[in-house]
Formats: sequence, structure tokens, C-alpha cells
Amino acid sequence: MKKTMRAFRMLRWQEPPSLVEIDLPEPGPGEVRIRVAGNGVCQSDLHMPQLPAIMEKFLGWQMPFTLGHEVGGFIDALGAGVSGFEKDQPVAVVSTRSCGHCLECDAGFDNACDSNKKGRGYGMNGGIADYLVVESTRPILPLERLDPKLAGPLTDAGSTSFHGVRRVTDRLGPGRTAFVIGAGGLGSFAIQYLKILTKARILVADVAADKRARAVELGADDVIDGALENVAGEVLKRTDGRGADAVLDFVGTTATIATSIASLAKLGRYALIGAGEGKLEMPLMGALAGKGASICSFVGGTAEDTRSAIELAEQGLLRNDVELFDIVDSAKAFEKLAAGQLQGRAVIVP
Ligand SMILES: [Zn+2]
Ligand SMILES: [Zn+2]
Repeated sequence: MKKTMRAFRMLRWQEPPSLVEIDLPEPGPGEVRIRVAGNGVCQSDLHMPQLPAIMEKFLGWQMPFTLGHEVGGFIDALGAGVSGFEKDQPVAVVSTRSCGHCLECDAGFDNACDSNKKGRGYGMNGGIADYLVVESTRPILPLERLDPKLAGPLTDAGSTSFHGVRRVTDRLGPGRTAFVIGAGGLGSFAIQYLKILTKARILVADVAADKRARAVELGADDVIDGALENVAGEVLKRTDGRGADAVLDFVGTTATIATSIASLAKLGRYALIGAGEGKLEMPLMGALAGKGASICSFVGGTAEDTRSAIELAEQGLLRNDVELFDIVDSAKAFEKLAAGQLQGRAVIVP
């Protein structure tokens, strides 16, 4: 077997990643090596070259590291003491890193675990490579029917959006309205989950006409042009002045935060998911207190959310559009994502 492999890596802070040849990693005790079938590219990957070197000191990130945190593949080799897996068994890797025994993990919110400050593809070696070594316990989900090449996006985009929907489903009985802002990689999964898991009416806003059209195909009952002057006004108009019982904001800019809060119905819940670095420019007490509304925020989904997303996909209930790129075209996949030219998620195939 060849003793080296290709990996698309951050080599230095503040520099773009590059495809290099590195040593084939050997699984240590309790670890497995996975032959990567596909790795989804996330918006957060695009920000890596802008991050400051201080990440090393504050979050324990280690440079250099291989990018990619949405991995599907096949079991390739087992480290000492590992059992329960077969060579060539198809698996997905849970994107969120967690310890399994802190207060947050115990409560089922392992996406809030401190271990996730650094993870595969962000501060440690990730999946845009021929092979990846991971712990054999928490992160590995065996696949039955799903092609592991297509599983990557479900471990992050599919899992994070599942978590968002799960955090608001108690607000969404029959006759209620869910409002999704942003129908891109995460939003398009959320629309499908809302359709499967709730009886709520689904309103979707996006600035792009093609994404609005796709939202309708995926189950949106009504769409709003996100470029309109008063998007919240449109939500109120279309809900007889009541507003949305749940708002899922996959954009997170100053404009969408203001729209989300102004769109909330009484006792509504706002889930802020998009990392758009938006600012809150309003007296929050006045905007929320009279409504009895609540806000939730999180990064990534839990292992259970990932399992749920994969289960729905294995049952053939989820549309998971991907555009495949050979690993030698990794930089091109990043460029297309940055330019908003992708239909679905980019998946890099070694
Ligand atoms: Zn991500
Ligand atoms: Zn934990």
C-alpha cells in the first residue's frame, strides 16, 4: 500500500489552503482509519484562511491541518483494541466533536460540548483527503443504504438544520407558521424536515429566485423575495398580522436578525443559525418581552440529530443535491461556493 496520501490543507495562518502529499495516517489504539468517499464543503471552510493565528492559543488548533468536516467513507483499518467494524463497511462521521460525559453531553446537547472548539477540519485533520483517522466510538455512524459519497453533507448541513427544526417544533402545531430565512445548503434541509415533522405552514425568504423556486419544490407553502424592503411586513401580511411561530434564520446578518425578531408571533421562537456576524440594532426588551418570545442559538447538530438526518435519507425521504468535485479541483469547489454558483452542496471526492 502507498504510504502517502493527498490532503487539502491549511499550511499556514492567513494563507489559502493547498493540495499536498502527506504521510498516510495510522490509526492509534481506539481509532479507525476511514477511506474517504466524499467530503462536503461548508461555508465555514471558506473563512479558514482569514482566521488569526491566535486560534492556536485560545482553541488549541494545530497548524497545519487538513480541511473538511463533512465526511462519508469506508472503514479501512482498525487500531488496537477496536472491534465491531468490518473493512470496507460504509460509514458517516458525526461532524460535531464531543466528549460524551460533560453536563452538556449528558443533557443531549453534545453540540455545546467544549471538545467541539476544535474538531476534524477545524484545528485537526479533516476529510478532504484520501484517508482520515478518527476515534472509533462516538463519531462513527454505520450506513445501510446510503452512498457514503453523499453522506457528508448530512453530518453537518443536514444535522445542524435538523437541530434548528428540533428546537422549534413545539411551537409548530397545526395552523402555525414556520418562517425560514435562507434556502441554501442548510435551509433546504430545514424546509424538508419541517414538512416531514410538523403540520405548520412553511414560509421561506431568499434573495435568489432560483433558491425560492427550489424551496417550493422542497415543500415551502409560500415564498418571499428576501431583497424586499420590508420582509417582516410580508410575513405579517401573510399570517393575518400574527407573525411566525418559529423563525429559522440561516443567514444571521444585521438585516435578517431585525427581520426575524419583527416577524415573531406571540410566544414565538427565533433560532439563530447563520453565522452572518449580524448585530442587534434594537431595544430587545421592547421587541421580545411583550411577545413572550424566546431566542436560541447553537453551532452544529448533535450526534442524535445526525443520526436522525441520516435515517431520513436512508428511507429515501430527503433530497440531498450535491455537485461532485475531484480532490484535485478542491480549490475550484471553494471558489464556486464563495461565488454562490453551486446547485446544492459541493462534495469533494478523493
Ligand atoms: Zn460546517
Ligand atoms: Zn461533552
